[in-house]
Amino acid sequence: MRNIKTDFLIIGSGIAGLATALGASPYGEVIVISKDRPDLCNSTLAQGGIAAAVGKDDSPREHTRDTLIAGAGICKEKTVEILTEEASKVIERLIELGTSFDRTNSGELALGREGAHSLARVIHRGDDTGAAIWETLFHKVRGQNVRFLTETRAEELLIAEGRCYGALVRNSEGVRRILARNVVLATGGIGEIYGRTTNSLLSTGEGLALAWKAGAVLSDLEFVQFHPTALATEENPLFLISEAVRGEGAVLVTEELERFMPNYHLRADLAPRDVVTRAIVSEQKKGHQIYLDASSLGHHFEQRFPNIYAKIHSLCLDPRKDLIPITPAAHFSMGGIRTDSFGRTNIQGLYACGECANTGVHGANRLASNSLLEGLVFGKRVAQTIAESLNESHLSTLDLTDQGTRDIPQVLKPLDLNDPRVVTLQKLMWSSVGIIRDEAGMTEAYKALGQLDREVNSSEGELRNMILVAKLITSSALQRLESRGSHYRLDYPEIDPTWQPKHLSLRRHSA
Ligand SMILES: Cc1cc2nc3c(=O)[nH]c(=O)nc-3n(C[C@H](O)[C@H](O)[C@H](O)COP(=O)(O)OP(=O)(O)OC[C@H]3O[C@@H](n4cnc5c(N)ncnc54)[C@H](O)[C@@H]3O)c2cc1C
Repeated sequence: MRNIKTDFLIIGSGIAGLATALGASPYGEVIVISKDRPDLCNSTLAQGGIAAAVGKDDSPREHTRDTLIAGAGICKEKTVEILTEEASKVIERLIELGTSFDRTNSGELALGREGAHSLARVIHRGDDTGAAIWETLFHKVRGQNVRFLTETRAEELLIAEGRCYGALVRNSEGVRRILARNVVLATGGIGEIYGRTTNSLLSTGEGLALAWKAGAVLSDLEFVQFHPTALATEENPLFLISEAVRGEGAVLVTEELERFMPNYHLRADLAPRDVVTRAIVSEQKKGHQIYLDASSLGHHFEQRFPNIYAKIHSLCLDPRKDLIPITPAAHFSMGGIRTDSFGRTNIQGLYACGECANTGVHGANRLASNSLLEGLVFGKRVAQTIAESLNESHLSTLDLTDQGTRDIPQVLKPLDLNDPRVVTLQKLMWSSVGIIRDEAGMTEAYKALGQLDREVNSSEGELRNMILVAKLITSSALQRLESRGSHYRLDYPEIDPTWQPKHLSLRRHSA
């Protein structure tokens, strides 16, 4: 088998992976791999924007406060402080690199408002902020000491003597080992585990499965954010109607044009996402259909949200006068591979950043527009850390000949999201480990996932990994005997203060 050697291997080409590549490239050779085209990822789908306390009346302290409140008591405060204090520098740097964010008539950065933020602090470029930032980083990174291997899937992490030394990867040329002094997982989210999702088709949580199999600790997996307002169609992924649309004045209504959010929360339509999502489910259970009424935005809708406007228009609806049909959808994973504030996992040489990491900044519920920021801030911190540790890691001292060569199927069956077994898994997760959960439903789901696993053979690695991640999420959700943030249990409907300091961690052999 062919080996490739590099200093840094980054698995994932979203914003977190690119931020790491940019920071690490002055210090050594970087390889970035992506499962598909580099731009196919959640990062380029991000609409609303990136949060930063740059407004006149704002401060990192206020931003921290909102993040901690949204996180429902279990964010890591010190890490949140790093996030919010670094935010304005991140924005300055992006502007320096060429991202043109929207500005007011007087030339100030235009600030949008989103749910659970106490004031307007979301910096944006129209409604495709993620793509704007991603393109800036991609162009910059391509000019550096960075090699991209696209349509290349990481199948296994190489571990020897308790240290990560690279990954086994597969592409159309076959299987090979990439040996690296440091390996960074930046593999994004898990939305496709739920089927009804806003996430890219690649968001099957594979980085979590790779990390878990290698012995890394995963934590807070029970906290999955369901966005209240995806456009209700049969597509996969579902098209998101950004919370920024409610920030500009749109409201949720029933088919009878009744507003209901003021009955559920003081902040009404801009309540935290988990509150809005459960309110929608509760109204649907009463037999209502739920819509977004954006008529108050008038012509401003088209100017401020051109892509969302075009999408709605393609369904022969005019958001300036027609109601927009919406549905909740799996959107973001707060939990993931546990890291410290430098992106270090419990395995030497293995780092994680972006949505696949659990840095502790999101707690039980992510504050809107904090995740692009997280990818950029912690991607850069990972880069600094791996650059500093370069001299400590010696590839040459280990004989890696046998690493990762065991039981490697020559041909793999690619994941087909229409496979009936995938559909079964997604339905199980949506109905039993979704927005509202209880012990009976989750126990049944766990058993059914076990059965599904037995029906999958070793050449179906991606499907196997999906089932593994589904089981790990279910196992965590079963263990947390309370409701907190996005984790809502019918059988334990209240917050239990004794759970406040606890983070559920899973490690191989403990699930
Ligand atoms: C519709 C939508 C709107 C959003 N809006 C906002 C917003 O306005 N503001 C905000 O802050 N956040 C938003 N988010 C969340 C945010 O976009 C994501 O959390 C963030 O972009 C994740 O970045 P990432 O780099 O961690 O992962 P991604 O951008 O998803 O990248 C993951 C990468 O990992 C690669 N990969 C995965 N598995 C493997 C493997 N086995 N081998 C090789 N490569 C692999 C993929 O190919 C991909 O390149 C939104 C998300 C969605 C889906």
